[in-house]
Amino acid sequence: MAEALFDRVALIGIGLIGSSLARVLRRDSPKTHIVACARREETLAAVRKLQIADQTTDDPVAAVAGADLVVLATPLSAYAGLAAQIAPALKQGAIVTDVGSVKEAVIRDVAPALPKGVHFVPGHPVAGTEHSGPEAGFAEMFHDRWCILTPTPDTDPEAVAKVTALWRMAQMKVVTMPADHHDRVLAVTSHLPHLIAYTIVGTATALGDDLKSEVIAFSAGGFRDFTRIAASDPVMWRDIFMNNREAVLDVIQRFSEDLTALQRAIRRGEGQILEDWFTRTRAIRRSVIEAKQA
Ligand code: NAP
Repeated sequence: MAEALFDRVALIGIGLIGSSLARVLRRDSPKTHIVACARREETLAAVRKLQIADQTTDDPVAAVAGADLVVLATPLSAYAGLAAQIAPALKQGAIVTDVGSVKEAVIRDVAPALPKGVHFVPGHPVAGTEHSGPEAGFAEMFHDRWCILTPTPDTDPEAVAKVTALWRMAQMKVVTMPADHHDRVLAVTSHLPHLIAYTIVGTATALGDDLKSEVIAFSAGGFRDFTRIAASDPVMWRDIFMNNREAVLDVIQRFSEDLTALQRAIRRGEGQILEDWFTRTRAIRRSVIEAKQA
């Protein structure tokens, strides 16, 4: 059997994303020793039952001892504390990567804490569902999706190559870009749509009781899709908005201006403006399907 890409991997956070990566390693790199770390015994017991790790612990310092690769896969707000905690225990030459949905803030929080001789490769597998926890993970989640790596000019190219190989093993398409660019792109493609879903579902919930029950009964008319997105993990999404403020605020501003333009067209009875707009957006849907991201 071929040599493992990594002999020992520590997954700090073993929820939807961490457990999906553990399943990929189990499937494609059976020689890799996997250490899973979470806070709650309940989570660690689920990991043992699923048999997706060789070792479980609630101690991040013990988890990273001897690891060639450490993957941070907790909500973003835990990163800074975890990086400071694990730093003294990291092996020389180890690679630390992450899966966080925002990248500039992660570089700010993690990179300064790491010792010399440890390589940090910030990353974001752009794949997921609205579910959380180790039971919700599955190896195929990453298939044909993009993984964005955001190395800085100081990042060791060999470490980037190894993390690229890891995500390619998960059948992802890997691209690198600057962290600020990542954050602006994701603000449009992911963060704003989630904010809109959270808003709509919240607005509907605030309606009078009679209307509220009808909203739920007739939810197939578009609302149901928003409720799926708005069921995403509250802590994870709080952290995303707290850590990508400028890019998200910029895109909310643009969105509000466009919404106002459509509002005006409706008020003035300017149907052609609406039809032209909807024709353009329909074409975008087609290109998303052609890019196999639907
Ligand atoms: P998740 O299913 O909620 O799992 C989070 C894991 O982190 C759990 O194992 C949890 O342990 C652990 N954890 C939480 N707070 C912690 C803390 N303060 N210290 C140590 N461990 C802690 O989350 P997820 O969906 O996998 O998301 C993890 C990361 O992936 C986030 O940074 C997110 O931005 C990114 N991401 C998510 C998606 C998505 O669609 N969900 C997609 C791409 C990237 P306990 O169970 O013991 O609390």
